[in-house]
Amino acid sequence: MVAQRLDGKLCAASVEEELHSRINACKSEGVVPHLAVVIVGDDPASHVYVNSKVKACQRLGIKSTHIELPASVAEDEVRATILKLNADETLHGILVQSPLPSHMDEEGLTDLIHPSKDVDGFHPENLGRLVQGRLDGMLPCTPSGVMRMLRWADIDLTGKSAVVLGRSRIVGMPQALLLGAKGADATVTVVHSRTADSKAVCAQADIVVAAIGRPEMVRGDWIKPGAIVVDVGINRVDDPTRERGWRLAGDVHPEVGEHASWLSPVPGGVGPMTIAMLMENTVRAAERSNQL
Ligand code: NDP
Repeated sequence: MVAQRLDGKLCAASVEEELHSRINACKSEGVVPHLAVVIVGDDPASHVYVNSKVKACQRLGIKSTHIELPASVAEDEVRATILKLNADETLHGILVQSPLPSHMDEEGLTDLIHPSKDVDGFHPENLGRLVQGRLDGMLPCTPSGVMRMLRWADIDLTGKSAVVLGRSRIVGMPQALLLGAKGADATVTVVHSRTADSKAVCAQADIVVAAIGRPEMVRGDWIKPGAIVVDVGINRVDDPTRERGWRLAGDVHPEVGEHASWLSPVPGGVGPMTIAMLMENTVRAAERSNQL
């Protein structure tokens, strides 16, 4: 079997297409959707992510404000920046790029973002709504991007058994909640670093979503023939055959493509969907600010 490609780039383009008319409607009401991105320090990968987010804003006509602070900045200054952005009525979304320098309380700082502007969907109020099965709040971008991509490919999850590898606040846990939510209706198992036999658990699943940050750990014999596999992982691995000396690898080994019915590529799978969902959350926040 050769897996069909769950093409996040194509799906993200269709999401962006839908957003154009919503953005135009906002603008005709005098509201320009506006996202602020705060980045602290000089982590090169974070700068790459922020640049792609700013570029997506430019493509769509969403205003973006890019605030760069040095790694040496006092935590109080980051706090003050977030509070100022909360108070700015022309601004609809605030994103603080992770990771923050290790001396900072990342969760404490991102909790300061007003829930209505929390376009990353990490605020306890937004995550709490998700736990309650209320899907109308700001949903975390990566897991909601996975759900959108599955719907786009017309994959019915009802009654299927899903395994989520990883239980982070950002990806794994909200992913499990979304797969098991009413309307999606999968039966979900969460695998983490203390799971006794991750391979055996995965091998039972109709759907596997891998978000562990372990390059190519999920091998072909972990996957039931015909299962649907979504690879969230983005890992930089050494590759002397490449001019730059490294390549991007997912959490799923390419040989899984010989067993699965669908597989999302890395890059070009979940990554573009994460950005598309960020744009959608920003537009939703702008619409709600004006109750369009
Ligand atoms: P975290 O490091 O926060 O969480 C990793 C999770 O994987 C933890 O729950 C951990 O378990 C679990 N885990 C680690 N090792 C194993 C193992 N050997 N077996 C089973 N479970 C294991 O990572 P994130 O959730 O933030 O990210 C996961 C991956 O997704 C990374 O590669 C990241 O780069 C990528 N990512 C991609 C995005 C995209 O847009 N495509 C966006 C965000 C992340 P435990 O809880 O027990 O420690």
